[in-house]
Amino acid sequence: MNRYLTSRILIALAAVGSITQAQVPTKQPAKTAEASLTAEPDVSWRFQVAGLTKDNAPAVKTALTALSVSVYVCDACKVEQMKAGTCSKCSAQLTMAKKPIFSSVAPSPDDSSLALSLVQRRPTHLTEIETVLKKSSVTIDRAKMPLPGTLTFVASGGTPEKMSAVKTALAATAQFEDIQASLNPTNAEMHFTTKAKTSSSPTAALVAKAFESQQLQLADIWFGKTLEASASPY
Ligand SMILES: [Zn+2]
Repeated sequence: MNRYLTSRILIALAAVGSITQAQVPTKQPAKTAEASLTAEPDVSWRFQVAGLTKDNAPAVKTALTALSVSVYVCDACKVEQMKAGTCSKCSAQLTMAKKPIFSSVAPSPDDSSLALSLVQRRPTHLTEIETVLKKSSVTIDRAKMPLPGTLTFVASGGTPEKMSAVKTALAATAQFEDIQASLNPTNAEMHFTTKAKTSSSPTAALVAKAFESQQLQLADIWFGKTLEASASPY
């Protein structure tokens, strides 16, 4: 995996995707020539896809590279967060900016794989990646998709009992650490935030099984840090 860990910090200012709103691709590919700043490393991973060809690979790369998110930044202090407000360092009003989610996108038709580097402060959704790929008739094999970095699993139809049972099932896989569960009483949506253990490589299918044990469906996986973890200076 180290091979794909990019050392390039393409983005000077970090961004965090809205975790509640669907993100739409912008028309322009992400291009950043901003100065490097100290930031946590991007998370990179490679996974198998079906339907990728030499013909559609350029379109896949362009579409994923164009995925962006609106964030609020203070250029002077390099502070970035998802919510509007004032800079936590200098108290100036934050300004809105569009930032790319991925720092690198590398489709490989030869071995039917896709390598992505995610800016951790800009979470993205598995369903969002799948929607973009679908436009080029490319699909992800969830059974073989390893899950990197900080993760949030989302499911609806939650109850306190089911949340507890799913948390236990996830812990029983021994693949995750520091599992935090929350239940939104308004819409019964459950969030499980965790990290894959460094020594393990859990798959999306393994996670889905933990939910199915409670007659629940895994609705989505978010990669990267959540709003709470990200709304701070770096
Ligand atoms: Zn500032």
